[in-house]
Amino acid sequence: MTHVDYINPKYRNDKSLKRVIFLDRDGTIHVDKVNTVEEKDLEYFPDTFSALKRLSNLGFFFIIISNQDGIRKGKYDAKKMHAFNQAILKDFKGHGIEILAIYYSPYLPEDNDYSFKPNPGMIEQAQKDFNIDLAHSYLIGDQMSDYKAGLAAGVNSFIVRTGIYHRPLENDKLFNNKKAFDNLGECSFYIFNLENNK
Ligand SMILES: [Mg+2]
Repeated sequence: MTHVDYINPKYRNDKSLKRVIFLDRDGTIHVDKVNTVEEKDLEYFPDTFSALKRLSNLGFFFIIISNQDGIRKGKYDAKKMHAFNQAILKDFKGHGIEILAIYYSPYLPEDNDYSFKPNPGMIEQAQKDFNIDLAHSYLIGDQMSDYKAGLAAGVNSFIVRTGIYHRPLENDKLFNNKKAFDNLGECSFYIFNLENNK
């Protein structure tokens, strides 16, 4: 079951068709320190905000979709995660970047919950909540599980190599080298060019 941590009140009842960039959280927008939940550990990449600004200028909204198995493992609770997410929201707002929603999945991989990436439950829930044009939206994450969730939902998906899980992506038969970038900045330029060559 998909869990909601935050919904932007401004868009709660807005059913206009939207294009979204689905963002993984840990290892994609900030440095993954394994079950990162303490505000003092919140460290962005040097290009996090410039990249997101480039994408928001193209008219995309952002939705964070995050596996949070640390909750089921008892490492922290949803309240603690919420405080961490609030810090992210504040920083985004400070950079003039709006987040539509934050969804999370507090399960373990072996629970095989439909919301837990690589399953597409969080994306499908967001689509229902916000009327998202999935075929013209994108997903960016640092693991194959992010990429696969996007593929399963019909979203054009990319991988940034800024995560800490070094399992070679190339071993996965679904991996597409053209869809992997060294960082969020490079990925944002690629999407920028895709959009401007339409
Ligand atoms: Mg990640």
